[in-house]
Amino acid sequence: LNPEAFSGDSRAVIDFLAEYYRDVDKYPVRAADLEPGRLRKLLPEAAPEHGEPMEDVLEDVRRDILPGLTHWQSPSFFAFFPMNASAAGFAGEMLSAGLNVVPFVWAASPAAAELETVVVDWMGRLLGLPQRLLFSGGGGGVLQGSTCEAVVCTLAAARDRALGRLGHDNIMKMVVYASDQTHTTFQKGARLVGIPPSNFRVIQTSSASGYGLTADAVRAVVDRDVARGLVPLYLCATVGTTGLGAVDPVRELGEVARRHGMWLHVDAAYAGSAAICPEFQGYLDGAELADSVSMNPHKWFLTNTDCCCLWVANPLELTSALSTDPEYLKNVGTNGTGKPAAIDYKDWQISLSRRFRAIKLWVVLRRYGAGGLRAHIRQHVTAAKWFERAVAADERFEVVVPRKFSLVCFRLRPRFAGEDDETTLDGMNRELLAAVNASGQAFMTHFVVDGKFVIRLAVGGAMTEMRHVMDVWELLQGKADDVIHRYQL
Ligand code: PLP
Repeated sequence: LNPEAFSGDSRAVIDFLAEYYRDVDKYPVRAADLEPGRLRKLLPEAAPEHGEPMEDVLEDVRRDILPGLTHWQSPSFFAFFPMNASAAGFAGEMLSAGLNVVPFVWAASPAAAELETVVVDWMGRLLGLPQRLLFSGGGGGVLQGSTCEAVVCTLAAARDRALGRLGHDNIMKMVVYASDQTHTTFQKGARLVGIPPSNFRVIQTSSASGYGLTADAVRAVVDRDVARGLVPLYLCATVGTTGLGAVDPVRELGEVARRHGMWLHVDAAYAGSAAICPEFQGYLDGAELADSVSMNPHKWFLTNTDCCCLWVANPLELTSALSTDPEYLKNVGTNGTGKPAAIDYKDWQISLSRRFRAIKLWVVLRRYGAGGLRAHIRQHVTAAKWFERAVAADERFEVVVPRKFSLVCFRLRPRFAGEDDETTLDGMNRELLAAVNASGQAFMTHFVVDGKFVIRLAVGGAMTEMRHVMDVWELLQGKADDVIHRYQL
């Protein structure tokens, strides 16, 4: 690495990105060119033999790559969930990538490992998590790349805890529980750790509980399994489900889990960020009954991808399932206790190599402070509230599920379409969403619940302000007029 060339190229990239962000609202939000194979046709068959100037590379990014991107950082990106980028998140990412240290064992980069223990405790405190999930209270945390990885690791820990108690040939008896709203990452994780597909229980939710699980529903399914000689292993509760932003009642589910010796995981991938505001901390009430909690700062916490916080109440259960002890990784700090004094983070995750994510999250926390981050969350909640009210006040539309955070789930439902004419409503809403997305002015995605096609407005982009939410509402109203007109002809 030549420091001068490094500086020149990095500056060129930063200037390129600054210009990109200046103009980001001028691009069609969803990839303009959706023809599969387009880029392959534009690029050479093989890598160049000789290095090329950075300017040429950036020119190709501008010409060939950008038109094929969906602009996740556009202020009018309301699809899926936000994936925040920020100046501090980028600066932190630069430090992480620039230093490029690999804190897999403590001695491989002591300050990187220790910073991670500090940052996950800071985050846990900000979210109001119970002491027992923090290093300072005997638990602890790790920064992983995604919730999917975090769930796999905790499933492995739960499996080994149960098998250690019951004997290893009991794996076929292990049952895991989730709701019909739980992210499919859980199903993937269960498969990966060897849970038989027939032992994956999907518990139905309904509008009566706002699409959250109820303790009664879980109890009924668990009791049936126990009566058949099966072993309840793991219950996944979600705070802020992907489709609808629904919330499972953590305390009540924790009590059911405790009674059956089940591992309780709380997946707060998206909505966990909101818990830095006291008015949202109630949704995590009962977290002291959880064995693990996870959330993704890379969603709504101004932290560039990737970053997932995972906290566990008993680190030894995690490290017992995941640790390996090859000679070449033994180091002065190795103590096998999972204590932060000299933590070997390789034993807290799937991969060995790992990124210095702690410095990124630390820079975000330092640069914005808890107050700045709360303001970031609250401005989106305020904008989502405004949008929800606007939808509710327009008789052509309906809010399908009451909003809890910054996700609004709604649909077009004009009177003439008839109360139960779901086929017509489905067609109209699909057309409305397609028209909005084809305009390039905004991008939203959908969900289907109880057979209803629902449009999701997920507010939370780092550049999204109230005016962007007002604009998308105006856009929706205009497109709704067109759709209604077509259906009335
Ligand atoms: N859990 C929930 C509730 C989510 O909303 C998502 C993604 O949106 C995930 C898990 C998956 O997260 P990851 O992509 O970090 O694995």
